[in-house]
Amino acid sequence: ESFEGSKLPEEVLECCKGFKKPSPIQSRAWPFLLNGRDFIGIAATGSGKTLAFGIPAIMYVLNKRKGKMSSGRNPLCLVLSPTRELAQQISDVLIDAGKASGVKSACLYGGTSKGPQKSALKAGIDIVIGTPGRLKDLVEEGVCRLSEVAFVVLDEADRMLDMGFELEVRSILSKTCSARQMVMFSATWPLPVHLLSQEFMDPNPVKV
Ligand code: AMP
Repeated sequence: ESFEGSKLPEEVLECCKGFKKPSPIQSRAWPFLLNGRDFIGIAATGSGKTLAFGIPAIMYVLNKRKGKMSSGRNPLCLVLSPTRELAQQISDVLIDAGKASGVKSACLYGGTSKGPQKSALKAGIDIVIGTPGRLKDLVEEGVCRLSEVAFVVLDEADRMLDMGFELEVRSILSKTCSARQMVMFSATWPLPVHLLSQEFMDPNPVKV
């Protein structure tokens, strides 16, 4: 597998310029995610999983724009992450990866004032990366509208449920488009994670 073989536009592959070839999780995930399939990845950090879902998320935004199928104000993609550190790491990668194509990402997490996060949302964000608590708050305040979100990533799903975020995660997911594409990454596959995937994903997701 090569970057050329992925047929992704140059401006989207800009962020991969320093890499020789797609990582295994990237070359496995991209074809399915670019085709709209639901996807479960059992992958650890360090595998390149951020761009495994990040590049398809950026492509999703670009395709929606091309078809003028978005209002251009509300987020189209959502990434849920268990901790602020992880959310920031993901958002750093996605902000950089979206630069050349003009796809905007922002990070919403707790433990800090809401003001700047609200301003970012008002300015228009394509991809929202957030921790469950703060995101649920901003959704309930009506500042973050998820009605146009149809590409959702749950990163470290097992850890997110271990940390007690199940209710928040469910509440947030239920506010996204029912015809959403969903991606789930988890290091382990315990029953609560399995049940969540059964409830919110296609009956036959791709599992890698
Ligand atoms: P992640 O698992 O997404 O946290 O990525 C771990 C590290 O791998 C990061 O430093 C990335 O910049 C790097 N990385 C991502 N994709 C590739 C690739 N295709 N080839 C080499 N390194 C990569």
